[in-house]
Amino acid sequence: MSVNITTTRLTVRCASQHVRAGTPTCKRRTFFSSIFSGPSTVKRRARRDEESPALPTPTREYHPTPIPHEKLIHSPANAGQVDAYPVKTIAVSIEENLRTFDTVFLRDSCTCPRCVDPDSKQKLFQTSDIPQEIEGKARTVQDEKKGWVVEVEWQNDVPGYGPDHRTTHSIDWLRRALNTEVELRGGVRYDDRVLWDRDTITKNNKWIDYADWMSQDTVLFDALTHLNKYGLLFLKNVPESETSVVSIASRVGTLKDTFYGRTWDVRSKPKAENIAYTPQFLGLHMDLLYTSNPPHLQLLHSLRARTPGGESFFSDAFHAAAKLNEQSKTHFRALCTFPVTYHYHHAEHHYHYTRPTIELHPYPKYSEPTNLALHRVNWSPPFQGPFEARIGGESQTALRNYLAAANAYEKLLSQEENLFEYRLKEGECVIFDNRRVLHARRAFDATKGERWLKGAYVDDDVFFSRLRVLEERLEGRWVADGVVRPVV
Ligand SMILES: [Zn+2]
Repeated sequence: MSVNITTTRLTVRCASQHVRAGTPTCKRRTFFSSIFSGPSTVKRRARRDEESPALPTPTREYHPTPIPHEKLIHSPANAGQVDAYPVKTIAVSIEENLRTFDTVFLRDSCTCPRCVDPDSKQKLFQTSDIPQEIEGKARTVQDEKKGWVVEVEWQNDVPGYGPDHRTTHSIDWLRRALNTEVELRGGVRYDDRVLWDRDTITKNNKWIDYADWMSQDTVLFDALTHLNKYGLLFLKNVPESETSVVSIASRVGTLKDTFYGRTWDVRSKPKAENIAYTPQFLGLHMDLLYTSNPPHLQLLHSLRARTPGGESFFSDAFHAAAKLNEQSKTHFRALCTFPVTYHYHHAEHHYHYTRPTIELHPYPKYSEPTNLALHRVNWSPPFQGPFEARIGGESQTALRNYLAAANAYEKLLSQEENLFEYRLKEGECVIFDNRRVLHARRAFDATKGERWLKGAYVDDDVFFSRLRVLEERLEGRWVADGVVRPVV
């Protein structure tokens, strides 16, 4: 199946234009091409000299007549794979470079109505059913909607698919698929988080009107983007109702139910099973770290604020982690590795989970930690259980290193200039990222009035799903695993 190569100048709208300023766009594109050039460049150049003329100008009509063997070749270098099957590939010329795709990838990602149900969008065959020997004969055709597309006719197709089955992928889609792969592999991360201290957050805090939050998608998008950036958001003019917090959370998505209930009350009561239900001082902490998937968002709606005291304060644990990394790599590493056990051990509920204090994104670029690599922080001293690892004589150093690091970290977290203090008024609701922003509360005098907060949680999947839906709809792009995916 020899095919000639034709080079088309396809304008690349590089996804990197959406990437946070400062990301080395040009470098990345160089990296992109360097991966796919390599030893065969000379050969390719030689072949390109014999190219056929440029492709005809695309017309608006669907052009059913294929241009035979255009732009495509089977890679001459079907490098053997482990099981000695030659890897079957199809090469497509994108931006004057040959990009080689594994036939399994091209077949697996077929979105024709026989492969993906158009309504449910579910895949109708299994990757595991793709024969190892699958091979494709490809050509480029002009599609009215998608522009230039590669159409593949299969040999040794998935059982059940007849000879009439065709897979088409637009050149645009193929290019972006490669770009995504390269960015994921290269550890490129889109990250617009702003790490904050008291001054930064005081200047940048966002207040959203309840009615706007409930009725306008653009306001919601703006608010959720802000929340993702700072981990903290405030709503005002919230109706005095025990279900208001449900309405607010439901705009993001399904609430996270826990053993505290779908919503829960923070008001003092005698012999409280949780320190939150006492009028005592409650230090900087995160909720539910003793569970395998602690809530991402926490919402607190103030229904009564009539006691002296009870101010809330917040601290950006990412900011403190970045500062700690500047101060001492050893401390930072200790918090990334030392396992801390959290528990909630009561008669009817027994939760137990062990995790390090700082979790990083597992991308290769970040084998040396940077602040962008921060994924989550776990810090909840009141719910700590006894350490369960590295406690024996041989491991003393690890525990001692952890202690020194935890001490330095705590100082940063609770430093006056890193704390944002606010006394939530009735009719206000705070939303914060429970995996990043620590919250705390001053003691209050429960004998002098009522203090009542109604709380709810939302999971990370739910939050990011809403953010992606709005982002895709309003901005024509979405983000997953730190990589920006334009809508094709
Ligand atoms: Zn198909």
